[in-house]
Amino acid sequence: MREKEAVRLKKGIQKYSRVNLIHLPTPFRKLENLTDELAGPEIYVKRDDLTGLAFGGNKSRKLEFIVPDMLAKKADVVVTWAALQSNWAMQTAAAARRFGIRPVLVLFKRYDLPEEYDGNMLLDYILDAEIRIKEPIRDKNVKTEDYLAVVEDVAEELRCRGHNPYVISVGGSKVLGSMTLPLGAISYVNAFAETLEQTKAACFEPDYIVHSTGSGATQAGLVVGAKFLAEKTKIVGISVSDEKKSFTKDIMDIAAETEKALGLDPKVESDDVIVFDEYIKDGYGIVNKEVAEVIRLVFTREGIVLDPVYTSKAFVGLMDLIKKGYFKRGDKVVFFHTGGTPALFPNKHKIVELLKQ
Ligand SMILES: *Cc1c(COP(=O)(O)O)cnc(C)c1O
Repeated sequence: MREKEAVRLKKGIQKYSRVNLIHLPTPFRKLENLTDELAGPEIYVKRDDLTGLAFGGNKSRKLEFIVPDMLAKKADVVVTWAALQSNWAMQTAAAARRFGIRPVLVLFKRYDLPEEYDGNMLLDYILDAEIRIKEPIRDKNVKTEDYLAVVEDVAEELRCRGHNPYVISVGGSKVLGSMTLPLGAISYVNAFAETLEQTKAACFEPDYIVHSTGSGATQAGLVVGAKFLAEKTKIVGISVSDEKKSFTKDIMDIAAETEKALGLDPKVESDDVIVFDEYIKDGYGIVNKEVAEVIRLVFTREGIVLDPVYTSKAFVGLMDLIKKGYFKRGDKVVFFHTGGTPALFPNKHKIVELLKQ
């Protein structure tokens, strides 16, 4: 039964074209020092920060599946939106440039960072991306559609000038704009299969995967992969932005579209989508003392650099869940490092200040 479903899933993924942007499989290993020190489950790391496109990260997996769609639709410009120091925006710009597509990035000021050419904004600038900075949308009930409307205006202007823009939603997650299939999530179904091969080579299937959730496709893809390939593996998403309720719905929607796109019978249920929203703390992208300290801890113990917006908050969540007894002794937990390290640099003053306290 499971064998048959696994074959179907792998065939479903192979239907989609990919461009070769990254180095796969990404490394996988045990975090020996932290496993000892935290005295909870066995902790492993999957290094999707080492995908290799422009400092790496989860967005480059997604782009391997999204770029072919841009090419098929003969786009000459890609338009997307995100926050100022967005990994997604920078990775999209880097991928698009390699295929001769011009990136237009609509960046919303969302948090307390200067508009300076540092971190991802420096890389966007070097890539000669067209950057349009917008004031944040201050409505409390702001929805994806409100951002999409701003970006559609930009796309319309480009169309008037004779361009053929490809519009993608933030993070390459939601099926919106020009992306009519959940290509980002499909890449993470594939990432689950890749991880399972690595854990099986080490003679186990993971009990948990813990990772950071920001726009949903990473989690949706991992959840679909787990459901069809290794049902015992639970996927735990640590939110860095939205509350649990809205994320669970988004992830369920993306997962359902992904099952459909892969020709699978719908199986993912809301119980399969585990999201913790208590580690967002002061808000998206706001560095706190726990974040600064966990970056130091993981760097000193394992030589691995976490980012200050996503993976550090996810690791704070992982440590708190260990403390609260969420995992059993002997459980095998895989922490997905999803990248984002360029954002360390624009946060340098805050990090140093917090570590000095
Ligand atoms: C975007 C991002 C995430 C979240 O992935 P989603 O698929 O958007 O939920 C996690 N970590 C990093 C470093 C990211 O840039």
